[in-house]
Amino acid sequence: MYKKTGILILALTAATVSLAGKLKVVTTTSDLASITEAVAGDLAKVNSICSGSQDPHHLQARPKYVMMARSADLWIRTGMELEIGWEMPVIDGSRNRKIRPGQPGHLDASVNIHKLEIPDASMLTRAMGDVHASGNPHYLTDPENAKHVADDIAARLAQLDPKNAETYKANAKAFSDKIDEKMAGWKQKMEPLNGKSIVTYHKSWIYFCERFGINIAIELEPKPGVPPSPTHLTQVIQTMEADDIQIILQEPWYSTKAAERVAEKTGARIIEAPIFSGSDPEAQDYISLIDLIVKRLTEQPE
Ligand SMILES: [Zn+2]
Repeated sequence: MYKKTGILILALTAATVSLAGKLKVVTTTSDLASITEAVAGDLAKVNSICSGSQDPHHLQARPKYVMMARSADLWIRTGMELEIGWEMPVIDGSRNRKIRPGQPGHLDASVNIHKLEIPDASMLTRAMGDVHASGNPHYLTDPENAKHVADDIAARLAQLDPKNAETYKANAKAFSDKIDEKMAGWKQKMEPLNGKSIVTYHKSWIYFCERFGINIAIELEPKPGVPPSPTHLTQVIQTMEADDIQIILQEPWYSTKAAERVAEKTGARIIEAPIFSGSDPEAQDYISLIDLIVKRLTEQPE
C-alpha cells in the first residue's frame, strides 16, 4: 500500500513539473537561492530552507522542510558540513531520490571553491565543538566565489533542462559581469579598511576579509560554534588593545552581550551585518547584501 502511494506521489510530482514547465529548486540557504534566481530567471521556482535570519549551523530539521524537498528537481547546498545537522534528515524524510547526494538533482556548491581553513587530521575536530571541522564554509561572503557558484548552478540547470542551457549560461555571465562591475566600487569604499585588523564574533568573514585586505585578529568565539567564555574574552581584549583594533563585526543573530563587554574595555565599535540575503530590507538579493555589508563596515559612527 505504502509503495503504491509513493509511486502515485512520484507520478503526480512529475506531472506537476511538466505542466508548470518550471524546475523546482530548493536551496539550503538564501544566498544560494538568490544566485539561483539570477541564473534561472523565470525558468525555475526557487525556495530556500533557511531564511536569511536563520543560522544554518544550528537549524532543526522540520516537516515543512521535508515537504519542500519532496517535490524538488534540484537541491543545492553550501556543503563543507554547514548543513550537516539537518540536511540528510530532510532529504531522507522527503523520499525524493532525485536530490540525494551523487544524483544530478543534488549540487554541492562548494566543489569549485578555493576552500580556506581546511584543518589537517591532527587539528580540532567537530567532537571538540568546532562546527568548521571540514574547513570554513562561509565562502559566499566573497563575491568572487559567487561567480563560480553561479557557473556551477548554470551547468547543472542546463543538464536538467538542456533546452534552456544557453539562457542559464547567459544569465550566469550577466550575474558575473554585474559582480565585476560592482567590485571596483566595493573595493574603493573598503579602501580605508585595507590592511587594518578587526575582530569578528564567528569565523564567518574570512573570505570577505581576504578579498578586501582586512586582517581578522581574533574571534569572540574561542572555536567556531563555541560561545565566548570570560577567559577567552580577556584574551580578545588584550589582542585588541595591543593592535588598537576598533571594530567588532558580527551577524545580527548573535547576542551583542560579549561584544558590549569587550567594547566597554576597548572603545571599539560593534557593527552588525547579515551574511545572508533576505534578512534585511536593504539586502533582498545577493548583490545588495554585499552592498549592505560594505555600507555597514564603512559608514561613520554618529
Ligand atoms: Zn560557521
